[in-house]
Amino acid sequence: MTHQDAAVEPALYLDHPASTRPDEEVIEAMLPWLRDGHANPHAENRHGQRAAAAVEAARAEIAALIGADSSEIVFTSGATEANNLALRGFWPAKPLNGRLGLSAIEHKSLLETARDLADHGVSVHILALDAQGRIDPDAVRAWAEANDTAAPWLVSCGHANNEVGIVQDIAELADVVHSAGGRFHVDAAQSMGKLPLDVGSWGIDLASLSSHKIYGPAGIGALFVAADLRPAMRPQLTGGGQEGGLRSGTVPVFLAVGFGRAAAIAARRLAEDEHHLQQVVSAFLVQLAGEGVQHCLLSPKNGGLPGLISLHLPGFEAADLLDRLGPFASVSTGSACSAGELRASHVLRALGLNETDAGQVLRLGFGRGNSPAQARQFAHQLAETMGRMRSQG
Ligand code: PMP
Repeated sequence: MTHQDAAVEPALYLDHPASTRPDEEVIEAMLPWLRDGHANPHAENRHGQRAAAAVEAARAEIAALIGADSSEIVFTSGATEANNLALRGFWPAKPLNGRLGLSAIEHKSLLETARDLADHGVSVHILALDAQGRIDPDAVRAWAEANDTAAPWLVSCGHANNEVGIVQDIAELADVVHSAGGRFHVDAAQSMGKLPLDVGSWGIDLASLSSHKIYGPAGIGALFVAADLRPAMRPQLTGGGQEGGLRSGTVPVFLAVGFGRAAAIAARRLAEDEHHLQQVVSAFLVQLAGEGVQHCLLSPKNGGLPGLISLHLPGFEAADLLDRLGPFASVSTGSACSAGELRASHVLRALGLNETDAGQVLRLGFGRGNSPAQARQFAHQLAETMGRMRSQG
């Protein structure tokens, strides 16, 4: 992309599952700490103590949003690192043994980490999904009970899927796992602040969180570690012993403050945001149907991740659509470029789509800043673009 290209702002940002624009209130909260809050929060001096107090206040806001205690929140650089710490840190000593269960639609930061753990001795099992893409609790129970070993075992599961918006029944799955003697990790990068999540009453052991998905700054996230599991967890970054020894490195104060404020805003706005996004999505879908666009909705009709729409548009290359729609809106496709080659998403493939169909999927992610009028306008632009593509053959 040239500088000139970068200067042409697309009219609409419809890629909120990828990242969100920091809330103005978040930016205002961060600025003084960015400008003057350079002190090290781990330093004993006055400046350090002031910075530490700000970090602890942020930690408390994040804990409150998910029903945790402050002492159970470990700051990381984002959910990728939190997922790595959750899985790798769970096995305290080498050689690794034990079992890890997860589904094929998880984020790559879980699947690739699981692959690496498998190379080092962990027995990895891919959990079955039902026709709606939900992890079947009976299959989890059967797997858990069939493998009766003393070695530690863990189930890891995304709460809301970032590509298709499927939401798993976390409380039920955690209950099944605990009843069989295992531990439960949830990747809440997409759901935090958008769906109710209560680690305390749902009995969750580990939860990965990300700030830039909830209108906070990028570059910070957290891992919730239940108090009783913490002594058994093994750090992945060693050094000064910050974050109770579980994650060494200086906590970036301004990012923590921004993340904390984003969490507080999300807690306040959860119901309002959900209602707003329902209206925006419904405006889009009504307009799309009115325009006569033939499509298949891959995201759940009800109960999915608020604001996310995954659309299969038969006969239309999503990469081509993304290009043509560029001047109107930034959206996402069901493919990713890997080693210079466009590959269908592993999530869509695991949900049963073939390469061709997966290449015809657009993901739209509406957010707080989008209005129903914008959604209708975009549906119209999409229909027009598809009409032009059809007439050009
Ligand atoms: N898990 C899920 C479900 C995600 O959607 C993402 C971000 N796409 C991540 C983990 C990784 O988050 P981060 O960008 O904070 O590393």
